[in-house]
Amino acid sequence: MITCSKERMEDKIVTFSKFGDTGKGGITRLSMSPEAIQARDELCKRCKALGMEIKTDDMANIYATIPGEEELPAIAMGSHLDSVIQGGNYDGVLGVLTAMEVAETIVAEKIQHRHPITVVVWTNEEGARFEPALMSSGVISGKFDKADMLASADKKGTTFAEALEASGYKGDESNRMTSDNYKALLELHIEQGPVLEDKKIDIGTVEGVVGMVNYEIFFKGQSGHAGTTPMPYRKDALYAACKIIQYLHDELDKLDSNLVYTTGRMDVKPGIHTVIPDDVSFSLDARHQNPDVIQQVVEVVERIPKEVEKCEAGFKLNWRRKTTPFNTELVDFVEKNAKEYGYSNTRLYSGPGHDAQYMADVLPTTMIFVPSVGGHSHCEIEYTPVENCWKGANVLLQTVLDVDKK
Ligand SMILES: [Zn+2]
Repeated sequence: MITCSKERMEDKIVTFSKFGDTGKGGITRLSMSPEAIQARDELCKRCKALGMEIKTDDMANIYATIPGEEELPAIAMGSHLDSVIQGGNYDGVLGVLTAMEVAETIVAEKIQHRHPITVVVWTNEEGARFEPALMSSGVISGKFDKADMLASADKKGTTFAEALEASGYKGDESNRMTSDNYKALLELHIEQGPVLEDKKIDIGTVEGVVGMVNYEIFFKGQSGHAGTTPMPYRKDALYAACKIIQYLHDELDKLDSNLVYTTGRMDVKPGIHTVIPDDVSFSLDARHQNPDVIQQVVEVVERIPKEVEKCEAGFKLNWRRKTTPFNTELVDFVEKNAKEYGYSNTRLYSGPGHDAQYMADVLPTTMIFVPSVGGHSHCEIEYTPVENCWKGANVLLQTVLDVDKK
Protein backbone atom coordinates (compact mmCIF):
# COMPACT_ATOMS: atom_id res chain seq x y z
CA MET A 1 0.00 0.00 0.00
CA ILE A 2 1.10 3.52 -0.71
CA THR A 3 2.53 5.39 2.27
CA CYS A 4 3.50 8.94 3.23
CA SER A 5 7.09 9.92 4.06
CA LYS A 6 8.13 9.56 7.69
CA GLU A 7 11.06 11.94 7.16
CA ARG A 8 8.85 14.66 5.72
CA MET A 9 6.33 14.09 8.53
CA GLU A 10 9.06 14.63 11.11
CA ASP A 11 10.36 17.72 9.32
CA LYS A 12 6.89 19.27 9.42
CA ILE A 13 6.48 18.58 13.14
CA VAL A 14 9.92 20.04 13.94
CA THR A 15 9.39 23.11 11.75
CA PHE A 16 5.97 24.01 13.16
CA SER A 17 7.13 23.47 16.75
CA LYS A 18 9.22 26.66 16.35
CA PHE A 19 6.19 28.93 15.94
CA GLY A 20 5.43 29.96 19.51
CA ASP A 21 8.14 27.76 21.05
CA THR A 22 8.08 28.23 24.83
CA GLY A 23 11.60 26.82 25.20
CA LYS A 24 10.20 24.13 27.49
CA GLY A 25 9.05 21.62 24.91
CA GLY A 26 5.73 23.22 24.08
CA ILE A 27 4.17 26.18 22.32
CA THR A 28 1.97 29.17 23.08
CA ARG A 29 0.29 29.96 19.77
CA LEU A 30 -2.91 31.85 20.48
CA SER A 31 -5.27 32.44 17.60
CA MET A 32 -4.26 35.36 15.34
CA SER A 33 -1.09 36.02 17.38
CA PRO A 34 2.17 36.75 15.50
CA GLU A 35 3.19 33.13 16.18
CA ALA A 36 -0.05 31.79 14.71
CA ILE A 37 0.40 34.01 11.65
CA GLN A 38 3.94 32.61 11.21
CA ALA A 39 2.52 29.08 11.25
CA ARG A 40 -0.15 30.07 8.72
CA ASP A 41 2.46 31.71 6.48
CA GLU A 42 4.62 28.58 6.57
CA LEU A 43 1.63 26.40 5.69
CA CYS A 44 0.68 28.64 2.76
CA LYS A 45 4.28 28.77 1.53
CA ARG A 46 4.55 24.98 1.56
CA CYS A 47 1.15 24.43 -0.03
CA LYS A 48 1.86 26.96 -2.79
CA ALA A 49 5.14 25.16 -3.51
CA LEU A 50 3.06 22.02 -4.10
CA GLY A 51 0.93 23.89 -6.63
CA MET A 52 -2.06 24.23 -4.33
CA GLU A 53 -4.51 27.10 -4.64
CA ILE A 54 -5.16 28.99 -1.40
CA LYS A 55 -8.40 30.66 -0.37
CA THR A 56 -9.67 31.97 2.95
CA ASP A 57 -13.21 32.62 4.09
CA ASP A 58 -14.67 35.46 6.16
CA MET A 59 -13.58 33.73 9.41
CA ALA A 60 -10.02 33.33 8.06
CA ASN A 61 -10.36 29.56 7.73
CA ILE A 62 -7.73 28.51 5.18
CA TYR A 63 -8.47 26.16 2.28
CA ALA A 64 -5.42 25.00 0.26
CA THR A 65 -6.49 22.88 -2.70
CA ILE A 66 -4.92 20.54 -5.24
CA PRO A 67 -7.19 20.61 -8.30
CA GLY A 68 -8.89 17.34 -9.25
CA GLU A 69 -9.17 15.80 -12.70
CA GLU A 70 -12.92 16.48 -12.75
CA GLU A 71 -15.19 19.35 -11.73
CA LEU A 72 -16.38 17.82 -8.47
CA PRO A 73 -16.77 18.88 -4.84
CA ALA A 74 -13.52 18.75 -2.88
CA ILE A 75 -12.43 16.26 -0.24
CA ALA A 76 -11.19 18.20 2.80
CA MET A 77 -8.86 17.23 5.63
CA GLY A 78 -7.31 19.31 8.40
CA SER A 79 -7.60 20.73 11.89
CA HIS A 80 -6.33 23.83 13.72
CA LEU A 81 -2.96 25.58 14.21
CA ASP A 82 -3.77 27.58 17.37
CA SER A 83 -2.92 26.29 20.84
CA VAL A 84 -3.73 26.98 24.47
CA ILE A 85 -1.18 28.86 26.62
CA GLN A 86 1.78 26.49 27.17
CA GLY A 87 0.22 23.84 24.99
CA GLY A 88 1.86 21.06 23.03
CA ASN A 89 3.12 20.38 19.51
CA TYR A 90 0.40 17.91 18.49
CA ASP A 91 -3.10 19.10 19.45
CA GLY A 92 -4.65 20.40 16.23
CA VAL A 93 -1.42 21.07 14.39
CA LEU A 94 -0.91 17.34 13.78
CA GLY A 95 -4.20 17.20 11.89
CA VAL A 96 -2.96 20.03 9.65
CA LEU A 97 0.53 18.56 9.20
CA THR A 98 -0.73 15.06 8.36
CA ALA A 99 -3.13 16.64 5.85
CA MET A 100 -0.19 18.54 4.31
CA GLU A 101 1.84 15.34 4.20
CA VAL A 102 -1.04 13.51 2.48
CA ALA A 103 -1.28 16.34 -0.08
CA GLU A 104 2.50 16.27 -0.58
CA THR A 105 2.45 12.49 -1.07
CA ILE A 106 -0.35 12.77 -3.64
CA VAL A 107 1.61 15.42 -5.55
CA ALA A 108 5.03 13.74 -5.22
CA GLU A 109 3.74 10.28 -6.16
CA LYS A 110 1.51 11.72 -8.91
CA ILE A 111 -1.51 9.84 -7.51
CA GLN A 112 -4.50 10.38 -9.76
CA HIS A 113 -7.64 11.76 -8.14
CA ARG A 114 -10.94 12.91 -9.55
CA HIS A 115 -11.90 15.32 -6.79
CA PRO A 116 -10.02 18.42 -5.66
CA ILE A 117 -8.24 17.71 -2.36
CA THR A 118 -8.15 20.46 0.26
CA VAL A 119 -6.10 21.06 3.39
CA VAL A 120 -8.25 23.08 5.80
CA VAL A 121 -7.13 25.13 8.82
CA TRP A 122 -9.89 26.19 11.24
CA THR A 123 -9.44 29.56 12.93
CA ASN A 124 -9.55 29.82 16.73
CA GLU A 125 -10.41 26.27 17.68
CA GLU A 126 -9.13 26.57 21.22
CA GLY A 127 -10.92 29.74 22.23
CA ALA A 128 -7.93 30.41 24.49
CA ARG A 129 -7.64 34.04 23.36
CA PHE A 130 -11.12 34.73 22.01
CA GLU A 131 -13.96 32.72 23.54
CA PRO A 132 -15.69 30.43 22.67
CA ALA A 133 -13.81 27.36 21.45
CA LEU A 134 -14.63 25.99 17.96
CA MET A 135 -15.47 29.56 16.97
CA SER A 136 -15.07 29.51 13.20
CA SER A 137 -16.42 26.04 12.43
CA GLY A 138 -19.22 27.10 14.78
CA VAL A 139 -20.01 30.18 12.69
CA ILE A 140 -19.96 28.46 9.33
CA SER A 141 -22.03 25.53 10.59
CA GLY A 142 -24.61 27.93 12.01
CA LYS A 143 -23.96 27.23 15.72
CA PHE A 144 -22.78 30.75 16.62
CA ASP A 145 -23.89 34.22 15.60
CA LYS A 146 -21.10 35.81 13.58
CA ALA A 147 -21.61 39.32 15.00
CA ASP A 148 -21.29 37.99 18.56
CA MET A 149 -18.08 36.18 17.62
CA LEU A 150 -16.55 39.27 15.98
CA ALA A 151 -17.22 41.19 19.20
CA SER A 152 -15.43 38.60 21.37
CA ALA A 153 -12.44 40.36 22.97
CA ASP A 154 -9.17 39.11 24.41
CA LYS A 155 -7.78 40.21 27.80
CA LYS A 156 -6.23 43.34 26.25
CA GLY A 157 -9.57 44.39 24.75
CA THR A 158 -8.70 43.51 21.14
CA THR A 159 -11.77 42.13 19.43
CA PHE A 160 -11.73 39.10 17.18
CA ALA A 161 -12.91 41.39 14.35
CA GLU A 162 -9.82 43.60 14.81
CA ALA A 163 -7.47 40.62 14.98
CA LEU A 164 -9.10 39.17 11.87
CA GLU A 165 -8.58 42.40 9.89
CA ALA A 166 -4.96 42.72 11.04
CA SER A 167 -4.12 39.08 10.26
CA GLY A 168 -4.23 39.44 6.48
CA TYR A 169 -6.16 36.17 6.36
CA LYS A 170 -9.72 37.47 6.22
CA GLY A 171 -11.32 36.29 3.00
CA ASP A 172 -14.71 35.96 1.41
CA GLU A 173 -17.84 34.37 2.81
CA SER A 174 -18.36 32.61 -0.54
CA ASN A 175 -15.26 30.50 0.19
CA ARG A 176 -16.81 28.83 3.25
CA MET A 177 -16.99 25.03 3.35
CA THR A 178 -20.51 23.91 2.42
CA SER A 179 -22.09 20.62 1.40
CA ASP A 180 -22.23 21.91 -2.19
CA ASN A 181 -18.53 22.54 -2.66
CA TYR A 182 -17.19 19.78 -0.36
CA LYS A 183 -17.86 16.06 -0.43
CA ALA A 184 -16.35 15.00 2.90
CA LEU A 185 -14.22 16.22 5.81
CA LEU A 186 -11.59 14.17 7.64
CA GLU A 187 -9.85 15.39 10.80
CA LEU A 188 -6.90 13.54 12.29
CA HIS A 189 -6.25 14.43 15.93
CA ILE A 190 -4.35 13.18 18.94
CA GLU A 191 -6.55 11.26 21.34
CA GLN A 192 -5.75 13.62 24.26
CA GLY A 193 -6.42 10.72 26.63
CA PRO A 194 -4.56 7.56 27.73
CA VAL A 195 -6.66 4.75 26.23
CA LEU A 196 -4.90 4.09 22.88
CA GLU A 197 -1.40 4.18 24.34
CA ASP A 198 -2.42 2.07 27.31
CA LYS A 199 -3.86 -0.63 25.05
CA LYS A 200 -0.96 -0.29 22.55
CA ILE A 201 -3.35 0.70 19.75
CA ASP A 202 -2.09 2.67 16.72
CA ILE A 203 -5.33 4.08 15.32
CA GLY A 204 -8.57 5.18 16.95
CA THR A 205 -11.53 4.94 14.59
CA VAL A 206 -13.71 7.72 15.94
CA GLU A 207 -17.43 6.95 15.79
CA GLY A 208 -18.56 10.33 17.06
CA VAL A 209 -18.20 12.96 19.77
CA VAL A 210 -19.84 12.34 23.14
CA GLY A 211 -22.70 14.46 24.40
CA MET A 212 -22.23 16.63 27.45
CA VAL A 213 -23.95 18.85 29.95
CA ASN A 214 -22.36 21.75 31.79
CA TYR A 215 -23.89 23.16 34.97
CA GLU A 216 -23.23 26.02 37.32
CA ILE A 217 -24.18 25.00 40.86
CA PHE A 218 -24.45 27.77 43.43
CA PHE A 219 -24.97 28.37 47.14
CA LYS A 220 -25.96 31.49 49.07
CA GLY A 221 -25.14 31.68 52.78
CA GLN A 222 -24.36 34.45 55.23
CA SER A 223 -20.94 36.01 55.59
CA GLY A 224 -19.66 36.75 59.06
CA HIS A 225 -16.56 37.11 61.18
CA ALA A 226 -14.41 33.96 61.33
CA GLY A 227 -13.60 34.64 65.00
CA THR A 228 -16.92 35.68 66.45
CA THR A 229 -19.61 33.56 64.77
CA PRO A 230 -20.17 30.29 66.68
CA MET A 231 -20.47 27.23 64.44
CA PRO A 232 -24.20 26.56 65.02
CA TYR A 233 -25.02 30.10 63.78
CA ARG A 234 -23.19 29.76 60.49
CA LYS A 235 -24.53 29.55 56.98
CA ASP A 236 -21.25 28.58 55.30
CA ALA A 237 -21.78 28.41 51.54
CA LEU A 238 -18.44 26.67 50.92
CA TYR A 239 -19.29 23.89 53.36
CA ALA A 240 -22.65 23.44 51.60
CA ALA A 241 -20.86 23.29 48.23
CA CYS A 242 -18.48 20.60 49.52
CA LYS A 243 -21.41 18.48 50.69
CA ILE A 244 -22.95 18.68 47.24
CA ILE A 245 -19.69 17.83 45.45
CA GLN A 246 -19.56 14.71 47.63
CA TYR A 247 -23.23 13.96 46.85
CA LEU A 248 -22.55 14.29 43.08
CA HIS A 249 -19.58 11.90 43.23
CA ASP A 250 -21.56 9.37 45.26
CA GLU A 251 -24.53 9.44 42.89
CA LEU A 252 -22.72 9.81 39.53
CA ASP A 253 -20.40 6.90 40.37
CA LYS A 254 -23.49 4.66 40.44
CA LEU A 255 -24.13 5.42 36.74
CA ASP A 256 -22.40 3.89 33.70
CA SER A 257 -18.64 3.44 34.20
CA ASN A 258 -17.85 5.30 30.94
CA LEU A 259 -19.37 8.49 32.35
CA VAL A 260 -16.75 11.18 33.02
CA TYR A 261 -17.50 14.26 35.09
CA THR A 262 -15.46 17.15 36.43
CA THR A 263 -15.68 20.09 38.75
CA GLY A 264 -12.90 22.23 37.32
CA ARG A 265 -13.75 25.63 38.71
CA MET A 266 -15.00 26.97 42.00
CA ASP A 267 -15.63 30.60 42.93
CA VAL A 268 -15.59 31.41 46.64
CA LYS A 269 -16.74 34.85 47.76
CA PRO A 270 -15.82 37.06 49.43
CA GLY A 271 -12.64 34.95 49.38
CA ILE A 272 -11.06 36.38 52.52
CA HIS A 273 -9.50 34.06 55.08
CA THR A 274 -11.22 35.76 58.02
CA VAL A 275 -14.71 35.80 56.51
CA ILE A 276 -17.26 32.96 56.28
CA PRO A 277 -18.01 32.45 52.56
CA ASP A 278 -21.56 33.49 51.62
CA ASP A 279 -21.50 33.10 47.83
CA VAL A 280 -20.03 29.95 46.29
CA SER A 281 -20.48 28.38 42.88
CA PHE A 282 -18.82 25.55 41.02
CA SER A 283 -18.96 24.00 37.56
CA LEU A 284 -19.98 20.47 36.67
CA ASP A 285 -19.06 19.05 33.26
CA ALA A 286 -20.37 15.55 32.47
CA ARG A 287 -19.89 13.56 29.25
CA HIS A 288 -21.18 10.28 27.84
CA GLN A 289 -22.05 8.99 24.38
CA ASN A 290 -25.47 7.68 25.45
CA PRO A 291 -28.10 10.43 25.86
CA ASP A 292 -29.89 8.25 28.45
CA VAL A 293 -26.86 8.40 30.74
CA ILE A 294 -26.66 12.18 30.29
CA GLN A 295 -30.35 12.32 31.25
CA GLN A 296 -29.53 10.36 34.42
CA VAL A 297 -26.89 13.01 35.24
CA VAL A 298 -29.54 15.70 34.76
CA GLU A 299 -31.79 13.86 37.21
CA VAL A 300 -29.02 13.64 39.82
CA VAL A 301 -28.42 17.39 39.52
CA GLU A 302 -32.15 18.09 39.75
CA ARG A 303 -32.28 16.19 43.08
CA ILE A 304 -29.94 18.72 44.72
CA PRO A 305 -32.03 20.06 47.66
CA LYS A 306 -33.05 23.72 47.68
CA GLU A 307 -31.45 24.08 51.10
CA VAL A 308 -28.07 22.59 52.05
CA GLU A 309 -26.48 23.20 55.47
CA LYS A 310 -28.87 26.14 55.97
CA CYS A 311 -27.72 27.72 52.69
CA GLU A 312 -29.86 28.32 49.64
CA ALA A 313 -28.79 26.01 46.81
CA GLY A 314 -29.55 26.11 43.10
CA PHE A 315 -28.24 25.20 39.68
CA LYS A 316 -28.27 26.50 36.13
CA LEU A 317 -27.62 24.61 32.90
CA ASN A 318 -24.86 26.50 31.06
CA TRP A 319 -24.92 24.43 27.90
CA ARG A 320 -25.70 21.03 26.55
CA ARG A 321 -24.20 19.31 23.55
CA LYS A 322 -25.80 16.33 21.87
CA THR A 323 -23.80 13.25 20.92
CA THR A 324 -22.61 13.72 17.33
CA PRO A 325 -22.28 10.48 15.38
CA PHE A 326 -19.89 10.58 12.42
CA ASN A 327 -20.67 9.37 8.89
CA THR A 328 -20.74 5.57 9.09
CA GLU A 329 -19.33 5.02 5.60
CA LEU A 330 -16.30 7.21 6.41
CA VAL A 331 -15.90 5.51 9.79
CA ASP A 332 -15.86 2.13 8.01
CA PHE A 333 -13.21 3.39 5.56
CA VAL A 334 -10.94 4.45 8.43
CA GLU A 335 -11.31 1.09 10.16
CA LYS A 336 -10.74 -0.87 6.94
CA ASN A 337 -7.63 1.16 6.12
CA ALA A 338 -6.10 0.79 9.59
CA LYS A 339 -6.60 -2.99 9.21
CA GLU A 340 -5.18 -3.09 5.69
CA TYR A 341 -2.01 -1.31 6.78
CA GLY A 342 -1.76 -3.86 9.61
CA TYR A 343 -2.17 -1.25 12.34
CA SER A 344 -3.86 -2.15 15.61
CA ASN A 345 -7.10 -0.21 15.90
CA THR A 346 -10.23 0.25 17.93
CA ARG A 347 -13.48 2.16 17.67
CA LEU A 348 -14.08 4.88 20.22
CA TYR A 349 -15.90 8.13 20.91
CA SER A 350 -14.19 11.48 21.35
CA GLY A 351 -14.58 13.12 24.77
CA PRO A 352 -13.23 16.53 23.71
CA GLY A 353 -15.07 18.67 21.18
CA HIS A 354 -13.52 19.21 17.73
CA ASP A 355 -14.29 21.32 14.65
CA ALA A 356 -15.28 18.07 12.91
CA GLN A 357 -18.16 17.67 15.35
CA TYR A 358 -19.76 20.96 14.23
CA MET A 359 -19.03 20.32 10.56
CA ALA A 360 -20.64 16.85 10.84
CA ASP A 361 -23.98 18.67 10.70
CA VAL A 362 -22.96 20.19 7.35
CA LEU A 363 -21.30 17.37 5.37
CA PRO A 364 -20.12 13.75 5.78
CA THR A 365 -17.35 13.90 8.38
CA THR A 366 -15.19 11.67 10.53
CA MET A 367 -12.01 11.69 12.62
CA ILE A 368 -8.90 9.56 13.07
CA PHE A 369 -7.18 9.44 16.48
CA VAL A 370 -3.54 8.65 17.17
CA PRO A 371 -2.18 7.94 20.68
CA SER A 372 -1.13 10.61 23.17
CA VAL A 373 1.80 9.42 25.29
CA GLY A 374 0.66 9.34 28.92
CA GLY A 375 -2.68 10.75 27.80
CA HIS A 376 -1.20 14.25 28.21
CA SER A 377 -2.70 17.14 26.25
CA HIS A 378 -3.06 20.92 26.56
CA CYS A 379 0.38 20.90 28.19
CA GLU A 380 3.99 21.12 27.07
CA ILE A 381 4.76 17.42 27.49
CA GLU A 382 2.06 16.46 24.97
CA TYR A 383 3.74 13.90 22.68
CA THR A 384 2.99 11.43 19.92
CA PRO A 385 5.93 9.49 18.39
CA VAL A 386 6.55 10.29 14.70
CA GLU A 387 5.89 6.62 13.88
CA ASN A 388 2.30 7.02 15.13
CA CYS A 389 1.86 10.35 13.35
CA TRP A 390 3.02 8.70 10.12
CA LYS A 391 0.67 5.73 10.56
CA GLY A 392 -2.19 8.18 11.07
CA ALA A 393 -1.18 10.06 7.90
CA ASN A 394 -1.21 6.79 5.95
CA VAL A 395 -4.74 5.96 7.10
CA LEU A 396 -5.78 9.52 6.23
CA LEU A 397 -4.21 9.22 2.77
CA GLN A 398 -5.95 5.95 1.95
CA THR A 399 -9.27 7.24 3.29
CA VAL A 400 -9.05 10.32 1.05
CA LEU A 401 -8.36 8.02 -1.91
CA ASP A 402 -11.32 5.78 -0.98
CA VAL A 403 -13.63 8.81 -0.83
CA ASP A 404 -12.25 9.93 -4.20
CA LYS A 405 -13.25 6.62 -5.81
CA LYS A 406 -16.87 6.63 -4.70
ZN1 LIG B 1 -7.51 20.24 19.02
